[in-house]
Amino acid sequence: MLYDTVIIGGGIVGLATALQLLEKKPGLRLLLIEKENQVAAHQTGHNSGVIHSGLYYKPGSLKANNCIKGYHQLLDFCQKHEIPHEICGKIVVATTEEQIPLMQNLYDRGIQNGLSGLEILSPEQMREIEPHVAGVKGIKVPQTGIINYKVVAEKYAYLIQEKGGRIQLGEKVSSISEREGKSTIVTQKGSYETKLVINCAGLYSDKVTQLTERNPINLRIIPFRGEYYELKPEKHHLVKHLIYPVPDPNFPFLGVHFTRMIEGGVEAGPNAVLAFRREGYKKTDFSWPELKETLAWPGFRKVAGKYWKTGMGEYYRSFSKSAFTKALQALLPELKEEDLIPGGAGVRAQACDEQGGLLDDFAIIENAQSINVCNAPSPAATSSLSIGDTVSDLALKRIID
Ligand SMILES: Cc1cc2nc3c(=O)[nH]c(=O)nc-3n(C[C@H](O)[C@H](O)[C@H](O)COP(=O)(O)OP(=O)(O)OC[C@H]3O[C@@H](n4cnc5c(N)ncnc54)[C@H](O)[C@@H]3O)c2cc1C
Repeated sequence: MLYDTVIIGGGIVGLATALQLLEKKPGLRLLLIEKENQVAAHQTGHNSGVIHSGLYYKPGSLKANNCIKGYHQLLDFCQKHEIPHEICGKIVVATTEEQIPLMQNLYDRGIQNGLSGLEILSPEQMREIEPHVAGVKGIKVPQTGIINYKVVAEKYAYLIQEKGGRIQLGEKVSSISEREGKSTIVTQKGSYETKLVINCAGLYSDKVTQLTERNPINLRIIPFRGEYYELKPEKHHLVKHLIYPVPDPNFPFLGVHFTRMIEGGVEAGPNAVLAFRREGYKKTDFSWPELKETLAWPGFRKVAGKYWKTGMGEYYRSFSKSAFTKALQALLPELKEEDLIPGGAGVRAQACDEQGGLLDDFAIIENAQSINVCNAPSPAATSSLSIGDTVSDLALKRIID
């Protein structure tokens, strides 16, 4: 059978794209291929579970636009399908006077991005919301929420199949060839023909892009592992909502925070250290071919040369629980090392260009055979339906034309 489109990757972005396609064009011959035996096995199933409001992102960027639109689409979806979530709000805390201008920039961005109800908080006002927090000033962000994105992804998968889409689990795409405008996608179990390939392969999106690109692409996915601790149950009272630091503009994804989880409990983290394997969730996970490729990428070497001190700090916190605790104590001074127990970990797919630029915005690369979602970091889970909307529009134009 000739598929209208084959989507590679059963994370939240690939699934949302499939769902949007089938909603816009019922009857579309659609196949989604996922290499694991379940959907949401990687970034989608290993994240902080936060529904982001759109506070952080450069006004007008794809991240800002998709986050705000995707936020509302996600909430509507959750209400319609009774998916547990909670809009509990968060506070962003400036812990030093030097952070106040950065915090003010964040507030201004939020206003420009159309967020309502943001409030600048004094230390006393912050403690009314979070009695144990320390800081010189803060921002209240009422829109932020919590959810389990694996549950959302599983619901997308269910609806895709209900609408006639096919999901093939446990098959890894290893090559793609092209003949007379049709692509043949090969996995270890078989091959599939399609008019259009859509690549949503997350941590391997650069590799899958390269399967349909004749020329080398100017980006590599650099995997950064984020490790979490959890608060012991008797310390859950220390965190009522979500508590975030003011991000470093050079590394907006750095900075440990406290997150209440939708199933109960409180997570603290994540840090960000170079993972020695793309899907390396443990400190000991290692793949020499993958690490060699990362180290050989000129862009990575430039980033490492420029920011090695920041990187070493993250490594130190990875191995030293007391250093990790110290970072958290900036927000919550009462916290003690023994209040923390090891939690899970996630690996972020961060695209890096040859010049050493860490791509901040979502990135989509198109060529004759395929549409490639090459950089979909946080808040891509919040934004999934909006990203899916954009990608499905691009795809339908090509399939229908
Ligand atoms: C630590 C961490 C915390 C985060 N916190 C948040 C948050 O709180 N809120 C938020 O909105 N976002 C958050 N994010 C970001 C969010 O999780 C991701 O942006 C989102 O999950 C990306 O989805 P994806 O579908 O692109 O990738 P993935 O979920 O990684 O899915 C890609 C899929 O492609 C499959 N695949 C890869 N190669 C192949 C192949 N060759 N053949 C077949 N299948 C293949 C993989 O197995 C995988 O299942 C966080 C991310 C991390 C890592």
